[in-house]
Amino acid sequence: MQIGIPKELKNNENRVALPPEGVHELIHDGHTVYVEHGAGIGSGIPDEAYAEVGATLASAADVWASDMVMKVKEPIESEYHFLRPGLLLYTYLHLAANKPLAEALLKAKVNSVAYENVQKDDGSLPLLSPMSEIAGSLAAQIGTQYLQKNNGGKGILLAGVPGVRKGRVVVIGGGVAGTNAARVALGLGARVTILDINVDRLKEIDEQFNGRVQTLLSNTSNIAKSLLTADVAIGAVLLPGHRAPTLVSRQMVHDMPNGSVIVDIAIDQGGIFETGSKVTTWDDPTYVNEGVIHYAVANMPGAVPQTATYALSNATIHYAQLLAAKPLPALLKENKDLYRGTITYDGHLTLGQAAADIGLD
Ligand code: NAD
Repeated sequence: MQIGIPKELKNNENRVALPPEGVHELIHDGHTVYVEHGAGIGSGIPDEAYAEVGATLASAADVWASDMVMKVKEPIESEYHFLRPGLLLYTYLHLAANKPLAEALLKAKVNSVAYENVQKDDGSLPLLSPMSEIAGSLAAQIGTQYLQKNNGGKGILLAGVPGVRKGRVVVIGGGVAGTNAARVALGLGARVTILDINVDRLKEIDEQFNGRVQTLLSNTSNIAKSLLTADVAIGAVLLPGHRAPTLVSRQMVHDMPNGSVIVDIAIDQGGIFETGSKVTTWDDPTYVNEGVIHYAVANMPGAVPQTATYALSNATIHYAQLLAAKPLPALLKENKDLYRGTITYDGHLTLGQAAADIGLD
């Protein structure tokens, strides 16, 4: 099979779908791999490193002409003209929050496997979790940075000092991103509260952090009360395949003290804050609404590519090898993880809930 790896075009997206080690695996399996000139530069990988493992350096058009295109982020509008019938696209898509892309994939009859929807039998999301680990860790760092007065924040040091209160971080959603946010926030010295609707998950978190994190059941009144005194609020909820639910009302944000910070990691699925459905970019990552700083970058790991490219490809390479080895219909009959991840097929939206969320069913 011919496999193409384009250069990412999204704002400040410095990751690349595969480093040379991953490309080498595919070539070893007998495939031909086209890598766009400069695709690895943002991750510190020169073209020569790909050439050394046997990749063919090529133009964007040649890369997109491959049987399978493997990316990091969803195609942006300027890439839609590359979409064509029969193309197998393997990347993050987040379609439930992106109707124009869904329509473009369906119109072009692209077969697409969305990283975030590949799911194991135990419910885990093997291709989302490495990026959620990174986004969660970054969220705490970003929160502490924007709390500084010189960055527009209220001027609180998360760690506090003896005799002065610590900063308070509230994390809504205690999955992979949420627990990583909590881990780093704790490391920075903050007082941390995690809210989740899953009580078993809260028990695990309590054990994982030896009781050093306050756990609360996620409901409207607990969210409202926690946010009243929060310095940093982090959104980390996921309903797989769905648009994120709006859990924090405008009134709750209004009631937070001015200069507090919201980091909505779940913005890639539409976000959980009523005041924060706007997606931002690394070039201009924040805006203020109701006196609270909102950070809403949908490709947070793009800022730490030398970590993120390797973390992502460590997870994606296994399924890439499977996708390249067999025609999709035959593979989907035997591989449930990829069956769940296949989101458009021959002009049909195959993931029911995404179809409903964007009004296409
Ligand atoms: P996860 O499945 O590991 O965790 C989600 C958690 O949300 C679960 O524990 C679930 O019980 C909880 N939850 C569901 N409904 C809830 C509610 N009403 N209140 C509180 N908790 C609730 O998911 P994850 O891998 O941690 O991903 C979280 C989000 O981060 C996703 O939207 C993902 O796409 C996003 N993400 C964003 C970036 C970025 O760059 N912005 C990067 C990686 C991941």
